Amino acid sequence: MPLNALQIYKLLPKTNCKECGFPTCLAFAMKLAAKQVELDACPYVSDEAKAALIAASRPPMRLITIGSDEHKIEVGNETELFRHDRSFYHPPGLMVRVKDTQPIGEIEETVSQVDGYSVELVGMTFGLDGIALENASGEANAYVKALKAVRANTDLPLILMAEDPKVMAAALENLGDTVPLIYAATEENWSDMVELAQKHKCPLAVYEADGLNELAGLVEKVEEAGVEDIVLDPGTRGFSDSLSVLTQIRRLALKHNFHLFGYPIITFPGEKTDSIEEETILAGQYIAKYGGFIVLDRFDPAEVYPLITLRLNIYTDPREPIQMEPGIYEFGEPTADSPLLTTTNFSLTYFSVAGEIEASGVPSWLLVTASEGMSVLTAWAAGNFDAERIAKDVKKFGVADKISHRKIIIPGLVAVIMGELEEELGGDWEVMVGPKEAMEIPRYLEEVWR
Ligand code: SF4
Repeated sequence: MPLNALQIYKLLPKTNCKECGFPTCLAFAMKLAAKQVELDACPYVSDEAKAALIAASRPPMRLITIGSDEHKIEVGNETELFRHDRSFYHPPGLMVRVKDTQPIGEIEETVSQVDGYSVELVGMTFGLDGIALENASGEANAYVKALKAVRANTDLPLILMAEDPKVMAAALENLGDTVPLIYAATEENWSDMVELAQKHKCPLAVYEADGLNELAGLVEKVEEAGVEDIVLDPGTRGFSDSLSVLTQIRRLALKHNFHLFGYPIITFPGEKTDSIEEETILAGQYIAKYGGFIVLDRFDPAEVYPLITLRLNIYTDPREPIQMEPGIYEFGEPTADSPLLTTTNFSLTYFSVAGEIEASGVPSWLLVTASEGMSVLTAWAAGNFDAERIAKDVKKFGVADKISHRKIIIPGLVAVIMGELEEELGGDWEVMVGPKEAMEIPRYLEEVWR
C-alpha cells in the first residue's frame, strides 16, 4: 500500500539538513510520495526506514513474464479489485494443455492449430498465448520428446508441468532460449523446484490445495529461498470455490497488502468441467475474476473466440475507447458515383458499419468523423457528432473531390441534424437519412441508394 507524505515523513530523520536538495524533510517526503525523487537522495535514511519505504513502493501484485523477446506474456501487476474502478492492465494468458502421453502426431497437430489461430477484432489481431505441456507419463524421455515436438511447431510461451524435479530438469536442459513457467512447487518437491527456478531464471508456480493458510506458508518458504517470480495455484477448480478463493486472494493482495498473495494465479477450467461449453464458461469466469494464466484442456476455435472477445472487453481501459483514425475510408473500389456514408470514430461502431457495407457488395465511401471515440447517439448527445463537425470533416478530408454527386448518408439515429447539415454543407448537398441499425445498411444501399 503506498504511503502518503506524512507517513513517509515520520520515517525520515527530520533534521532538515537540506542535503537532499529540499529545504525540509517534509518537502522531501512530499516529493517522494509523488514519486518525483529517489529515496537515495537522502543519505541519512535508516535501514529500517528504507525497508519500510521500499516495501510500500512495491506494486501489490508482481508482474510475471514468460516466453522470449518475440513471444512473451506479461501477467499480474494489477491494482484494482473491480475493473470499473480504473482498469485491468495485463490480460490473462490463454494457453492450451497437451500431455506427453498423447501420440506425437496429435501433439504436433494441436500445437500447430494453437500457433496458427488468430482472430481480427476491432482492427486488431489476437491469438492464443502458449502451450502447457504436462508430464502425464511420469517419464523424462517421453516428456523431452513431447517438448521437442512442441518446440518444433511453435515459439509461443510454455508452461512446463511436471511433479518430478528430475523430469523438470531434463526438460529445462532441452528447452532453448525461452523462459517457461515451471509448474509446480509443492510441499513435497519445493526445494528442488526452487533450485531449478533459480538455475534457469524461470518463474515458479506454487501449488497448495489444503487451504489459503497452507498456500501462504509454502509461498513464504519459496520466497525465503530466493524466488521472486511466483504464480499461485490454490487448487480450486470448480465455479463457486474458484470465485470465492480467487477473490479472497486478490482482495488480500490489493486491499490488505498481504504480499504472499501478491502474485498472479494459474487456473485450469477443464479439470472439473464435463464439456467444452462448461470449460469455456469457467474460463470466462477466470477472465473476469481473477485468472492470470488460464490453461484450457479442449481447443476449439469456436469456443476460443468468445473468450478472446471477453478478454478484450474486460481488459480495455473503460476511460479510453478504442478509436479509429478519422478520415475517408474506401470499400470495394468506389468511384465518383458511389454512395458516401458517415459515422463516428468509435471502433465498434466503425466495424459494425464497415462489416455491413462490405456485406452489401456496393463499393462505397465512408467518412469517419472525429467524435472522441463515441458511438453515434452518445457522440451526438455530447456534441461530438453534430452538423458542424461532420461538415468540417467533409471539407478537411476532401470528400467533394472524390464524388461527383453531392449526397451524404447519415445514420438514422441522428436524422434530426439533416436540415442543419444541409445548411452547413451549403450549395447543392443533399443529406439522406440512412438506417438506424448497421445491419440494415445492405438493404438500404440496394433499395434506397440504387
Ligand atoms: Fe531530511 Fe534527509 Fe533531506 Fe536531510 S537529506 S533534509 S534528513 S530528507
